[in-house]
Amino acid sequence: MSTRFEDLNITRQFLNALDDLGLENPTDIQSKAIGPARNGQDVLGIAQTGSGKTLAYLLPLVMKVKFAEGMHPRALILAPSKELVIQITRVLESLITYTDLRVVCLYGGIGKKTQVAEIEAGVDILVSTPGRFIDIYSFGHIHTRGLKTLVLDEADRMMEMGFMPQLRQILEVIPVKRQNLLFSATFPQRVEELAAEFLEFPTRVESEGKEKAVKEVTQQWYPVPNFKSKLNLLLHFMENPEWNRVIVFCRTKDEAERTSRYLDRTLKDEVRVLHSNKGQNARINALDDFRKGEVRLLITTDVTSRGIDVENVSHVVNFEIPKSSEDYLHRIGRTARINRDGVAVSFANRAEVILLERIEKRIDSHIARVEWPEEVAKGEFLAGEKKEIDRELDRQKRIADPTFKGAFHEKKRKAPGKGSPKASRSSKSKGRRR
Ligand code: AMP
Repeated sequence: MSTRFEDLNITRQFLNALDDLGLENPTDIQSKAIGPARNGQDVLGIAQTGSGKTLAYLLPLVMKVKFAEGMHPRALILAPSKELVIQITRVLESLITYTDLRVVCLYGGIGKKTQVAEIEAGVDILVSTPGRFIDIYSFGHIHTRGLKTLVLDEADRMMEMGFMPQLRQILEVIPVKRQNLLFSATFPQRVEELAAEFLEFPTRVESEGKEKAVKEVTQQWYPVPNFKSKLNLLLHFMENPEWNRVIVFCRTKDEAERTSRYLDRTLKDEVRVLHSNKGQNARINALDDFRKGEVRLLITTDVTSRGIDVENVSHVVNFEIPKSSEDYLHRIGRTARINRDGVAVSFANRAEVILLERIEKRIDSHIARVEWPEEVAKGEFLAGEKKEIDRELDRQKRIADPTFKGAFHEKKRKAPGKGSPKASRSSKSKGRRR
């Protein structure tokens, strides 16, 4: 296997760009994917974020498109989120420094005018979310006839987010004769079907980086009873200067917002929050402040985090445990990028412990339990929080064992027997009549 980019016949201007980026040796997925892709084959790449997959498809792509020509795009890269589109464009732009190639990046949430103007000024490579591509195409601003390469990045995420109809629409309007590169972190049934529909006799390559990525991350978890205790524990960790670039994951944007509001009281000006309800500029600024090290802590959600590529993230905190092991792997992959170590710390309440156990089994790796540090005070339960945790605990137990009825469920069922609300109302009304 090749150990240097030179061995992969990368042309000089791109070798120079790689050199500027400080990259010398291809990663596993790059060694495996670049050759077949350069030969014009369709490639199915199974590789996680953190494996170097972006350059695995960008390098053969830029070598094929080579230099600026005509007005219309010759390559299209589709990715599921704005953040990922921006991230890919950032890598692409640094890669084409020594060429005259023109890249345009398209995503929703902002006006179309500038994006359309950029396309009309001439473009070689388009990077887009599926929705925005169709939107701009339907107004007649994209000539697709010259497209010779199609890349689908994070195909599994696209399937999860229900992009299949849009992808089919796009397929209908781009040339049948083209090269396809499809990358996905996982390979569930839906991606298999997508690959069968999109690719012709693909060469399948798989990154061995997956296990490595997990191995390089120290994984720990703390049993934490409730939200306020989670806050206290996080604030305690933030007193340690080694926690200098921290990503905190919540499951929903509401939770991310709430967590940031509480943390902001203590960690003034050190926190930014990134989720899909934020305006485009706020999101870009938040990420920039974090990337530059102006703030230490970034709070985000699973969907929005796709595409966050920040160097030297010291710690990832699972403030809430994700429901899927893919999300867990993706989260912890934000720390310990290639050749670096990182720490992922999970905070799990009684219900979340079950999720964490399930994740541990699925990813086949040990997450070490660490006991609550005595010097940290535990917080009170918020109104209704205890009940919600119990309900979630029942839900999780029921997933594990469908016959499980659950404490919460039992209580609810018993109520009518003891004296249902109906019964008491009728006795009251009888009383009144008397
Ligand atoms: P990706 O999997 O494409 O999201 O890449 C993850 C990270 O790996 C990015 O920060 C890249 O800059 C870095 N990276 C990509 N290729 C290499 C390489 N050949 N050597 C070292 N780091 C790399």
